[in-house]
Amino acid sequence: MRPIESVKGELLACTFCAFCRRSCPVYRATLWEGESPRGRVAQGYGLLMDELEPTDEFYDSILNCSLCGLCEDACPPKIRVVDVVLAARRHLAQAGAKPPERVAHLLRASLEGKILIPRAEVVYLPGREGEDALNILRALGVRVEPASAPPLSPLMIAGSPEFEDRLAELSKALKAAGARRVITSDPDELWALRERLKDVEVLHASQVIPLDGVTGALESEAAYLPSCRLRRLGVSAADDIIRSILNVKKELECAGSEDGWLRDDALSRIVRERVEAADDTVIVCASAEHARTLKQAGAEAMSIWEAIKPVS
Ligand code: SF4
Ligand code: SF4
Repeated sequence: MRPIESVKGELLACTFCAFCRRSCPVYRATLWEGESPRGRVAQGYGLLMDELEPTDEFYDSILNCSLCGLCEDACPPKIRVVDVVLAARRHLAQAGAKPPERVAHLLRASLEGKILIPRAEVVYLPGREGEDALNILRALGVRVEPASAPPLSPLMIAGSPEFEDRLAELSKALKAAGARRVITSDPDELWALRERLKDVEVLHASQVIPLDGVTGALESEAAYLPSCRLRRLGVSAADDIIRSILNVKKELECAGSEDGWLRDDALSRIVRERVEAADDTVIVCASAEHARTLKQAGAEAMSIWEAIKPVS
C-alpha cells in the first residue's frame, strides 16, 4: 500500500471549510494556501490521485509544517492533519524526493551517529535536547546512565524509509544492554519511540521528577511556552512542574517540531510573534530546542531544565 493511502479516509472527510487556517502558525506566517492545513489535505488528495509529482520542492513545502496539531483542534470533523502530513512525507521520501539542506543535515546525523548503549536498567537518550535534564535527574538521585546515540525522531518526522532500520538497531542495542526503561527530555524522541520500542518503557524526563524535589531557579515572572507534542502524548508533568514552582504570568501558544524543520521565513515570524506575546518576560520552554531557537533570535529564554533546580 502506498503511504498516502493510509490516510485516505482523512483526505475524503475534509469539507474544505477553512476553519483550520487561522489556527496554523505556518499559514499565519506565509499566508500561502498551499501551506495551510487545508492545503496540506488537498495536496495529500493530489498524491492519492496521482495528480501531483513527488518533486523536491513539494517535499520542502510539506516539511514546512511543525506538526503542532493546532489545526486539528479547530477542525469540525477532526481531520488528523498531522497524520496526513506524515503520510505525505513518507510518500514523497519513498518516491525519491530529496529534502532541503536544513532537514538533510538532521537526517545525516540520525543515520550516521553510532548507537552505544551502556549496560544499565535505565538509560538516558539525549535526542536533540542535550543533557541538562540528565544533570537534574542525577542531582535528584535518579539512577540513570547516558547513552551515546543520535536522535531518531528526525527520520520519523521526515518520513524517511530508513527510520524502521535505525529503530530496530536501537531496540536491539537496548535489549543487549538489559535496559528496561528509557528517559529522554526530547518531546519528539518520546513521540518517535514510546509506542514503537517493544519491552522498554519510554518516559519524558519530567515524568520521573517528584514535584516536591525541585524548586524554581528563576526569581522573576515568566512566560511559559509548553510543548504541544507532550500535550498530545498526554504528558502533563512538565506543565505541572512549571505551573507549581514558577511565577507564570502568561502561557504562549504551544509549539511543535519547528527548530530545523521550518523555513527561516516562517520560523522567524513565529519567533517574533512569540517574543511580542511574552511582553519582555523571560520565556521558559518545555523544550530545550525551543529555548535555543529563541536565544539565537536574541530573546531572553531558558529551558525548563535551566529554570528548575533540586531542593537543597
Ligand atoms: S482540515 Fe478540517 S477545518 Fe480544515 S478545511 Fe478540512 S474540514 Fe475544514
Ligand atoms: S500541524 Fe500545525 S503547522 Fe502543520 S498544518 Fe496543522 S496547524 Fe499548521
